[in-house]
Amino acid sequence: MNTAASHNQQPIEKRVAQQVRRDLMIFAGFIAAGFILSVNLDVIGLIHAWATDSERLQFSKIIGTVIIASVGLTLYIITRYHTHIRALRERLQTEERARRVAMHDQLTGLPNRRHLKGVLNWLLSETDGGKRLAVVMLNLDKFREFNDAHGRPAGDEMMMQVGKVLNVRAGVDGFVARLESDDFVVLLPDQAEEELMEWLSATLTAIEAPIMSGDNWLTTSATAGAAVGLVDGRDAETLLHRASLALRRAKDAHRGWFAFFKTGMDDLVRQRAMFEGELAAAVREDQIAPYFQPLVSLQDGSVRGYEILARWTHPTRGPIPPTHFIPAAEASGAICALTFNLLRRACADAANLPGTPHLSLNVSPVQLEQRDFAHELLKILEEASFPPTRLEVEITEAALVTDREAARAIVDVLQANGVRVALDNFGTGHSSLLQLRQLTFDKLKIDRSFVRAMSTDKEAAVMVRTIISMAKSLGLVVVAEGVEFEDQARALAGLGCDMAQGYYFGRAAAGADSQKTARSKALDSVAAPGLADATS
Ligand code: C2E
Ligand code: CA
Ligand code: CA
Repeated sequence: MNTAASHNQQPIEKRVAQQVRRDLMIFAGFIAAGFILSVNLDVIGLIHAWATDSERLQFSKIIGTVIIASVGLTLYIITRYHTHIRALRERLQTEERARRVAMHDQLTGLPNRRHLKGVLNWLLSETDGGKRLAVVMLNLDKFREFNDAHGRPAGDEMMMQVGKVLNVRAGVDGFVARLESDDFVVLLPDQAEEELMEWLSATLTAIEAPIMSGDNWLTTSATAGAAVGLVDGRDAETLLHRASLALRRAKDAHRGWFAFFKTGMDDLVRQRAMFEGELAAAVREDQIAPYFQPLVSLQDGSVRGYEILARWTHPTRGPIPPTHFIPAAEASGAICALTFNLLRRACADAANLPGTPHLSLNVSPVQLEQRDFAHELLKILEEASFPPTRLEVEITEAALVTDREAARAIVDVLQANGVRVALDNFGTGHSSLLQLRQLTFDKLKIDRSFVRAMSTDKEAAVMVRTIISMAKSLGLVVVAEGVEFEDQARALAGLGCDMAQGYYFGRAAAGADSQKTARSKALDSVAAPGLADATS
């Protein structure tokens, strides 16, 4: 397909030769016309008669002068013509250079989006119906972070390397282009879906091979989306759009892997875009409110703090669960503004809560990739005059899987300023307690699935016991989530669990209400004497 790239471009020498051939034919035409005219008009006879009539002119001298003049004129024309051809060649070369700049990416030398569209449209118009074409769109994973971490020159080197890998993998039949930033497109003709799957898998693996940059080995990975189809009746835009939808799906599902376009993806994406638009507006207009769920001491039943939980009541659709809108906010990037707005409001609401309770803020993994997250958060606390020692952030293991070093840097800044850090939903991920030590958590929250299973499933009970004793040996405060019944609370207290949270102690409620529900439950617990002793 690479020949397709130059479908409307002939080599410069060929174009020059064409021009010379055309000029020579015109020249020969003039000579022939002149010859025919002079024969018809008997020019030689006329000159002869004129020379005979004239006393001063001789026929041979006239003919000699004409021949010398013709040779001189011809030599002059040839020299001028050479200059003209040289200028033509230079003009064509300049044009070619300009065309290359306009059609190619300067960094990798690969064709750019304009060039790609030209080729794709040409392929679509040239191809007779029934032929298959695969459009693969690839994007490097977290390339901005790569640039931040290793510097722009290393990023450029990696980009060139990926371009080379793709060129090799695409072979002579493929066509590779680099779009803006870190997006690449590969066109592969005549690909069946199974073949393409193998191609994608091998290509993504090849991209992951480490490269040497300076003294360091660097690696990257890419995610791909592919649209395969019969080329007839489709335009370039549709195919590219479909590949980008598949890429987006792949990014959501599994970075470093690929997805194929499937019918219906357009609708899903449209719906999602609409939802994300509404969510962005809700965040902007501060429609997402903080609710507070009490965290209770299992030693004396007192409310020690509240977890801030986001609540969104849609004007027409009613309440939307956070399990629905938080992932959308994470994907669209709205999560940052959402969390900070929530924290601002929660700090203000906390002033109306009795005592000086702690607040726990849920932080998404994507936020722990933002370098200035800790500073932004501390700034909000300062503006609200809320002491950092009264705030705790809850992070999940997912944050540690994505970029442990970035997460650690943020955790360090927060802890240095007095903010405590809790590991949320412990037991649902893959962290071992030993790994946790490296991250110096202050608190561990046992996921509610263990608490629920504890009373019926012996293994779950053993697991909870082990988690509590190991966490305590590491000096962590342990919280049990999802405590719904009194006997669960008693059993957990018996195992030495420090704190609990759950419907038994109070559901999440708006500022003032949370205080009411929490207090009554807490007093019940205090009233149950020896809560801790009962299960020991
Ligand atoms: P999570 O951080 O594990 O929060 C606890 C969830 O368990 C809350 O659900 C809470 O209402 C629910 N829960 C509390 N006690 C009980 C109980 O006794 N039984 C049962 N079955 N459930 C209980 P919610 O509010 O629906 O939030 C769900 C998840 O959404 C949260 O899980 C958290 O991952 C996320 N989320 C909520 N608000 C935020 C937020 O502001 N930021 C971020 N990043 N995530 C949030
Ligand atoms: Ca939480
Ligand atoms: Ca949790």
